[in-house]
Parts: sequence; structure tokens; C-alpha cells
Amino acid sequence: MQAITRKSGRFTLRYRPYTLELRHVFTIAAGSRSTTPVVLVELEYDGIIGYGEASMPPYLGESHETVLRFLNRVDLSGFNDPFHTADILAYVDQLAPKNTAAKASVDIALHDLLGKMMNQPWHRIWGYNAAHTPNTSFTIGIDTAEVVRRKVREAEPYKILKVKLGLDTDKMMIETIREVTDKPLCADVNQGWRHREEGLEMAHWLADRGVVFLEQPMPKEEVDDNAWLTENSPIPTVADEAVQRLEDVRGAFGVYSGINIKLMKCTGMREAHQMAELAKALGMKVMLGCMTETSCAISAAAQLSPVVDWADLDGALLISNDAYRGMEVTDGKVVLPPTPGIGIRLNGPAAG
Ligand code: MG
Repeated sequence: MQAITRKSGRFTLRYRPYTLELRHVFTIAAGSRSTTPVVLVELEYDGIIGYGEASMPPYLGESHETVLRFLNRVDLSGFNDPFHTADILAYVDQLAPKNTAAKASVDIALHDLLGKMMNQPWHRIWGYNAAHTPNTSFTIGIDTAEVVRRKVREAEPYKILKVKLGLDTDKMMIETIREVTDKPLCADVNQGWRHREEGLEMAHWLADRGVVFLEQPMPKEEVDDNAWLTENSPIPTVADEAVQRLEDVRGAFGVYSGINIKLMKCTGMREAHQMAELAKALGMKVMLGCMTETSCAISAAAQLSPVVDWADLDGALLISNDAYRGMEVTDGKVVLPPTPGIGIRLNGPAAG
């Protein structure tokens, strides 16, 4: 589909739907899929173009249609200065109660634009040292033993693996991976465990097998059970589904050891940065996650990576038709481009 172009005061917004093809069918506790819809966005001001992206995995409740409908309503004609990010993004946020991926696409494009205007990458603007980037984990979805072994071998360059758990195959998954590698693992249960005693027993079993933290072990509604597990678990817990936005961080304090920040949940880079700084101030761990995304949203998130404890920024590595190039992974470690903004460039003719 052709890009939609809309003049919006001194800004020009362009956006087009795009479908990411996954290299492998991906299964988590909630289901399987082989494609992910995204919308690629450009925001132009004074001849400078910022790039943004909305990624819509099915459980977020957004689609090409809802994101296009949201973007069609964005009218920036009331803003003359792109540096008024607090005002601009507050306006975008109040257009609808949810649509966090659509909001993130505008936020990322605006940050990319501003970084280019300042001629600096965002990790430098935020004061972070690019030498301090973490290793990124590589995700192994729930699958048959044969496929899991193959995926673990393919993940050879990565220093830490993220394992999807939460079905009745949890022990098989871990034992299969341990046949192939002794790398540290992190476990994402996606709310799949139902009872806290079962959770604690599994936490010990996993800790004994080199799992370093547990992501969203039980349903987010079970606040007391998650808090009890965090209190008793030998390894830290990280809230993912339970923490979407800045306002949720306070509620996670005392319930989980840390939070997983994702741009598509929290409306973009501005709020992600605020969440990371707040969680750090509260003494919580910070994990930086992603959806299946192109190098656009991944490189935007990666600007925060020097300050986080754990990064799971493999979204662009799982797809075969990335529209951009940006953040790279060398020997398992996140490498930030030194270029301004979010540090991406177009990847061949697929982009437009
Ligand atoms: Mg998760």
C-alpha cells in the first residue's frame, strides 16, 4: 500500500502499513504466529525526517486499521516548535485512551527528528555511555525438542537466551536447552503459572539450572501471589504484562523485583526513559524488551540500553524483511550506531 501523506501545520506526517515476516513460527503461552503487522511512520519538519514505527502483536489489541485511524486524527498544526515534546506528546496521548503502539510511532519519529536537529544520538542526549550497553538475550519460543535444539544452536552468538515458558512443557524446554548449552537463561512465563507454591517450586528448579530471572510468572491480577513469590524466590522477578506505562511503576514496587519496559506498551521513548529513571530511583531492576519490530523501534529502544540491567532486543533479528538498519548485535552485545537521532538508515528498496 502507498504511504499516506498529510500536511499537519509545519509538520508532514507519512505512514504506511507493512507486514513483518517471521523467520520461524513463534509460539508463546498465548498462541502462535508467523507475521506481525506494523506501521512505518515519517515525521518531517524543516526538511528533516524522523522515522517511527508502531508494532502490533495481536495481544495488544491494535491492528493496521486502528493505527491508521489513530494517525489520521493526529493534527500537529497547533505546534510550531518540535522541541515542545511534553506538549506535543501529551496532545497525542489524549487523542484516545489506548493505542499505545500508534502513540509510540509518533513519539519515536519525533525523537528521531529532534536528535537529527541536535545532531546527537539519544543515548548521548540522555547522558548514557554507549560503551555500557548490555548483552541482548535471544528468544526461544515454545516448540518441539528438535526445533528448540536447532534454535539454540542458531543462537550461538548470543550470551543469554530468553526461554518462553508457561505451558505444561516448561521442564522439557529447559532440559532440552541444557542438552545443547550452559549459557545463562531468563524465563518468560507470560502469566502462565496458576499457583504460587507451584511458582516457587519452579523458581527453585529453574534457578538450579542457571535461570537468572523470571518474567511475569503469574497473572498480573494476582498481586499478592506475585509479591509472595518475589519475596521468596531465589531469583528476581520482572513485571511485563503488569506494567504498561509510567503510572504502573509505583504499583509494581514491592510486588516485583523489576520492570520490563517496551516502547509499544508505554507510548514511546519519552515515557520509557522516565520509567527507567523512576525504577532505578526505587531500587528496582530494569529490563528493556521489544515486540517483533524493525530496526526502527529496536534502535529507538536501544538508546536506553546502557542504563538497563537486562536487554531483550532481538525483535528485528527474528524477521526476514527489516526495512531499516540500525542497532546491531556483536558477540551478543548491543552496539549503538553513533549517528544522530535513533541511528537508523533505510535498508534497500523495501522502505519508502
Ligand atoms: Mg514478556
